[in-house]
Amino acid sequence: MAYRAVDRGVVSELEGILGKSAVFADPENLEKYSSDETTEVSFRPGVVVKPGKTADVVAVMRYAWENRIPVTPRSGGTGVVGGALPSCGGILLSLERMNRIREVDEENLMCVVEPGVITGDLARRVAESRLFYPPDPASIDSSCIGGNVAVSAGGPSAVKYGTTKDYVTGLEVVFPDGSMAKMGGKVVKNATGYDLIGLMVGSEGTLGIITEVTLRLLPLPPHSVDLLIPFGDLTGAATAVSEIIKERIVPATIEFIEAEALRVVREFLKKEIPFVDAGAQLLVRLDGETKNHIETDLERLWEVVRRMGIEDIVVAESSTTQDRLWEARRVIRDAVQWKSPVKNGEDVVVPRSRIPDFVVRAKGALDEVGLASIFFGHAGDGNIHVEILKGALTDEEWETRLAEARRRVYGIARELGGLLSGEHGIGYIRKEYLDTFIDDAGLRVMKRIKEAIDPRGILNPEKIFI
Ligand SMILES: Cc1cc2nc3c(=O)[nH]c(=O)nc-3n(C[C@H](O)[C@H](O)[C@H](O)COP(=O)(O)OP(=O)(O)OC[C@H]3O[C@@H](n4cnc5c(N)ncnc54)[C@H](O)[C@@H]3O)c2cc1C
Repeated sequence: MAYRAVDRGVVSELEGILGKSAVFADPENLEKYSSDETTEVSFRPGVVVKPGKTADVVAVMRYAWENRIPVTPRSGGTGVVGGALPSCGGILLSLERMNRIREVDEENLMCVVEPGVITGDLARRVAESRLFYPPDPASIDSSCIGGNVAVSAGGPSAVKYGTTKDYVTGLEVVFPDGSMAKMGGKVVKNATGYDLIGLMVGSEGTLGIITEVTLRLLPLPPHSVDLLIPFGDLTGAATAVSEIIKERIVPATIEFIEAEALRVVREFLKKEIPFVDAGAQLLVRLDGETKNHIETDLERLWEVVRRMGIEDIVVAESSTTQDRLWEARRVIRDAVQWKSPVKNGEDVVVPRSRIPDFVVRAKGALDEVGLASIFFGHAGDGNIHVEILKGALTDEEWETRLAEARRRVYGIARELGGLLSGEHGIGYIRKEYLDTFIDDAGLRVMKRIKEAIDPRGILNPEKIFI
């Protein structure tokens, strides 16, 4: 695609549209918005704009459409697949100033928010009204609802409560040509025409800019208990996940952490963590309406792990002890990054019964390729995070081995009925692998949808598809 480059003229026209205080072309801002949490890639925008309301977004998109300037939307900038990186330069449109919680509607159990609201702020605000917004990515205190919706973010609680897509009932979206549409609303059911909300959720900022979101809320479960269960090895922990699910126990979360991750976290935190010498751990949360309900599940779960020879577990009921158990899980990604600033993070998802096969085979494949790896993630929903570390390898060794490692890991996931991404999306760094997981007809339909909505190819180009 041929795009108009951003020059001084474009900057002053944007200043005319939005006002000077919302347009940034200084080196510091251009540098800041050149990267997100993706370690291997960065791109500099031509200009950064920070609209304060939907009408501003409409005006920027009309201008970009008429002038054929690429626009990359961004909310919290915590994405790990390069989705918010302006790979063609152009306008970086940051939604960070649109950060108001407009309404918590206690009658309808819904809330209406702007895209720049930090997810954790929303969860805490609705909890004050004894309501629950379950999607809880580990980046909960830095990622935003707009980005969460754009990739359908998940989190530990997906095993029981689903991911972001399960909570979106309404959207306001600005399309590439600057037209604006409201979809759905505060309704629990909706069979009114095509499911445009379903199309927008997970579209990674390539089809429209999300400027308002209506989300369904649940009553806050009053009781919860966390369990930390150590296993001798990776296979034991992975097998336990399948056994728990087979027993029809539905924990709120089942997180999985392997031995290497525990050691890196201990080094990073510079403090002892429970069961640090385990071959792998499961962190399980049971929640519910009554203590009785939780106790019954706890006994059944205890029975499952005892059958596997586990004698010792930690049970945490107070929020302080629960926080201590979760600390190790929450900092894994930061600890891995600290250990190896260059790394690659995969988030394949496999059917839950195939988790043991996947972890054993993928770990073996990475060892054979000669790459250090750390496995952790949302085992309860089959979404295993595989962090592959560059460590002391040369750039050339790293690139060759990584390409082979990704080919093998994806091949194993595919053979087991899995998919390329459970929650992070395709973005910039995985697009050349999409066609190995989606058949030709499906891919053709996806590309036609993109062409129909964005025939000028200005909205978040070079993402999802090659
Ligand atoms: C430490 C850490 C832990 C993480 N843990 C998890 C986890 O547990 N689960 C999980 O799912 N992810 C996790 N992530 C990844 C990341 O936080 C999520 O992908 C998150 O949803 C990104 O939100 P964001 O607001 O930062 O989006 P950004 O990074 O700003 O953008 C992400 C994508 O959404 C698009 N986008 C952003 N805003 C809009 C908008 N308003 N309209 C249209 N498109 C938009 C962007 O163009 C980009 O393609 C983690 C990341 C880190 C660094």
